[in-house]
Amino acid sequence: MFARVATPRGFNRVIREGAWFSNCSFRYASMMTGPGHATLLTGCYPHRHGIPANDFCDASANRCLYCAEDTVHGRSPALLRVPTIGDALRAASPLSKVAAIAIKDRAAILMSGTSAYPVLWFDAQAGGFVTSTYYRTPPWLGLLNSSMPFTRWTNHTWRAGIPDSLSPAIDNVEGEGALTSGRRTFPHRMPDAATAADDYAADFVRSPFSVTYLFDAAREVMRREKLGQDSATDILCIGVSTTDMLGHTFGPDSREVQELYRACDSTLANYIDYLDDVVGRQHYVLVITSDHGVAPIPEVIRRASEAQGVEIDAGRLRRAELIRVIDSALNGRYGGGASWVREVHEPAIYLNHALCEERSVDPGQAAETAAQALRNIHGVQIAIPTAHIATGMPCQDSIPAELCAFVRAAVDADRSGDIVVFPRRYWIFGSTPATHGTPHDYDRHVPLMLFGGGIPAGTIAADVSPADIAPTLAQWLGLRLGDVDGVPLPLTRTEETAPEGR
Ligand SMILES: [Zn+2]
Repeated sequence: MFARVATPRGFNRVIREGAWFSNCSFRYASMMTGPGHATLLTGCYPHRHGIPANDFCDASANRCLYCAEDTVHGRSPALLRVPTIGDALRAASPLSKVAAIAIKDRAAILMSGTSAYPVLWFDAQAGGFVTSTYYRTPPWLGLLNSSMPFTRWTNHTWRAGIPDSLSPAIDNVEGEGALTSGRRTFPHRMPDAATAADDYAADFVRSPFSVTYLFDAAREVMRREKLGQDSATDILCIGVSTTDMLGHTFGPDSREVQELYRACDSTLANYIDYLDDVVGRQHYVLVITSDHGVAPIPEVIRRASEAQGVEIDAGRLRRAELIRVIDSALNGRYGGGASWVREVHEPAIYLNHALCEERSVDPGQAAETAAQALRNIHGVQIAIPTAHIATGMPCQDSIPAELCAFVRAAVDADRSGDIVVFPRRYWIFGSTPATHGTPHDYDRHVPLMLFGGGIPAGTIAADVSPADIAPTLAQWLGLRLGDVDGVPLPLTRTEETAPEGR
């Protein structure tokens, strides 16, 4: 379907003229934005890169943190334990530039690393793209924000462009969310940016207008910083979070997500034309991938399966239920009073160590008891004391070895709490209509496409991972990375196949 409604110059061109890896999956369990972006350009999974979730508590620091938090600068890659390919490039080639721009701060920060400039992300309250004091502030940033205000789509209407006959998605599905207007169907009108600023910002980042905005700004970064204009290799990381944020609201099978990808396709087509013009096709490599996949909306998949006469077990795990079950188990064993759970940042559960100490309870023993109890919740597939993983103890009976390996790769001994818990297939955490964060194939499977100079055309079915991107680029650039989880992609880049610039 998509090939018919998309331009021949966007994804279709990338698939036709570039390398498309159709079986690309992450091989760790906690599929979300922070850990995913940290993997993309380090080649490592959380057990090495140290970002096990978007939010986590650090046992050594004895505090809970956001994955891109910095106590001095507000935001930085301080919590990332390994270098990025950009860091390796800058160390080997000081004239090379590494830049990043994204809607989400953690996407820009965790892809680009410690030595990048500029590193920009979107902050509606601040009026556009911002950076932190960890990085140099580009002298042209104020001009960028004033000359291309993100509010320029105020009162604009996002209309569906795919003919009904070509779209299998029903626009109004029970279980999907809505934009701030409360509407679940096209056309979607953007709120007034002057009188409803918060509503405008919330809808803007879930509309194709924010993708246009992001790529307009990315072109400005390239122009201002002269990326790709000399013999030193540069890297530009672009994080498109719109697809994630709209997807959370409407679900992956929605009309809205289809329409958004059609809009992204045009944006990609224009960006490729731009790269061909200013850099020349033989001089760049474009890598397209994602930080995670997504699960279907549980209510939608349950209804769809019932309609076909099969029953699919799908549902939601609530934080309150996890806490209630743990408290009940530990109160039963050690006596009641306070809650035994200090924090929950899925997939990690952090027990109340102060209470353990007060009651002379070994936290490891409490974690064993709590994990056993969690496994009795219907929607839970995996609940393992984190210490088991750190010490190489057996994972969990009845869980396939591959799944255990994904859990191991997702755990940082200092930051993954006392227990890690994952839902069973088609079950998700929380009440957001659609989400990700599990080891199931739909959360781990992502696109991977490489396009540009020397990239041979073809569809490659080999099992690969986004962790393979950094070692591949390192090999091509003659750079050394430390111990990584990825391996170079099965792809031979040849100068002969590089087409001349347009
Ligand atoms: Zn998400």
